[in-house]
Amino acid sequence: MADIVLKAVAEAYINGREIVNTGLTMMGLGGDNYFCGGCKREMMHEVPIKTMQVNFLYLCDTCKTLNEIPHDA
Ligand SMILES: [Zn+2]
Repeated sequence: MADIVLKAVAEAYINGREIVNTGLTMMGLGGDNYFCGGCKREMMHEVPIKTMQVNFLYLCDTCKTLNEIPHDA
C-alpha cells in the first residue's frame, strides 16, 4: 500500500474522459491511498485503482480539482 498524490488536470485535457466524484472519501477494501493534487486531502482510501483499466478523472468534492492517476504511480 502506498500514498499517492494525484495529478491535477486542466479542463482542456479532459478529452471526453468520464469524471468520478469521490465524495468525501471513497473507501476501498485494499489498495493505495490517493490524495488530491489541489488541496492534498485524502480522496480515496485503500482503493485498488491500478487494477482498473479505465482512465477516469477524479473530482475533488472540496476544491473541485480534476485529478488523474500519475503515470509513474
Ligand atoms: Zn482537492
